[in-house]
Amino acid sequence: MKHMLLEATMPSTLADEFNPRLSAEARFDTAAARLGLDDGMQKVLRSPSREVIVHIPVLLDDGRLEVFTGYRVQHSVARGPAKGGIRYAPDVTHDEVRALAAWMTWKCAVVNIPFGGGKGGVICDPGVLSPSELERITRRYTAEIFEFIGPDKDVPAPDMNTNEQTMAWIMDTYSMHARQTVSAVVTGKPINLGGSRGRAEATGRGCMIVTDQALRRLGLERSSTRVVIQGFGNVGGMAAKLMSRAGYKIVCIIEWDGAVYNATGLDIAALMKHRTETGSITGFSGGEDMDKTEAMFLECDVLLPAAKENVITSQNAHKLRTKVLCEGANGPSTHVADAILAEKGIFVIPDILANAGGVTVSYFEWVQDRQGYFWSEQVVNDRLEEIMVNSFQDVVAYSDKHGVNNRLAAYMLALDRVAAAIKMRGIYA
Ligand code: GLU
Repeated sequence: MKHMLLEATMPSTLADEFNPRLSAEARFDTAAARLGLDDGMQKVLRSPSREVIVHIPVLLDDGRLEVFTGYRVQHSVARGPAKGGIRYAPDVTHDEVRALAAWMTWKCAVVNIPFGGGKGGVICDPGVLSPSELERITRRYTAEIFEFIGPDKDVPAPDMNTNEQTMAWIMDTYSMHARQTVSAVVTGKPINLGGSRGRAEATGRGCMIVTDQALRRLGLERSSTRVVIQGFGNVGGMAAKLMSRAGYKIVCIIEWDGAVYNATGLDIAALMKHRTETGSITGFSGGEDMDKTEAMFLECDVLLPAAKENVITSQNAHKLRTKVLCEGANGPSTHVADAILAEKGIFVIPDILANAGGVTVSYFEWVQDRQGYFWSEQVVNDRLEEIMVNSFQDVVAYSDKHGVNNRLAAYMLALDRVAAAIKMRGIYA
């Protein structure tokens, strides 16, 4: 809803800029043209292969009956089953889910894992729903999309406002319908239900691994690297924890209700404790509160937006004062901001590479579930590191070879891989 209201009052060019589907398509068009993909292939890659919309009746705790709208978009299954999270939020839109599904296709192709791309979303406000209401929404949504998901069809995972409990409910509901336990139908499950060690930290860990690679390329050291992180949840919180442990100086954390700053580096474990106790990162004795909008423009070495879409735009990109932008969130920069980032010489680690650690360990989870054999955390982390380092290197090598920026290089690499799969499979008539 928030999105739509905002868009309704915006000039149309800004509304277009803020529409994630148009952002995803604009980048796709640039990469496809640069690759010289023929028109037919462009049409195939541009359209999602399947979209399911469900309107789910759910009984609320007070006895009222409510209807929620849910989506599951499978953008591509050319390289393997569709893969991607499910988000719960009041401002979920069909276009947003479409963009996120396409980004999953490109992300899985960049890290070269055998999946296509998908995404789901339910329009609901988890902030006002009880755990049992959320459980009923999740179970009914799963039942409605039952025939479209499965270990070889489409494998959901957590995303914004969904977590391992949500995945356990999906796994259970699917298994009840299938009359057998099917753990590989979703990833991001609790460890005792077939989840993978290292999955909870994987997206944040992946962000750190690619940031390490960027530092190496730019001749910077961890200990003198000032990091500003937007978001302190699954991605930002884990990245902050792992990066501060590894010696990075996390100078600022930005959340929806404020920002906290410490020039010598925040004690992340203490800040997490403070947030658990007070419900907010503000008022932390180990730092000073600051304006959350201004905090994005602090002078730093690494800016890691790990919250939501459209935070770096044509309106503010020129104000950034960072050397590296590591996109932990999906779509934190709009396509219009890309040119400004390039002009400013910011080293961008694009979302479809930077946050791919999550889906990479989801792939490991799916493999482990199917093998019925579970790996140690060390094995998971080592294999994650190998994939993230290789993918980073593939992208920068592509960028150097073709004289394009990292984002365009990542898109070109991904499109090329997916187009090659479609060509080899041929078009079934
Ligand atoms: N929701 C995460 C993402 O956007 C993870 C997806 C997955 O593990 O399938 O990458």
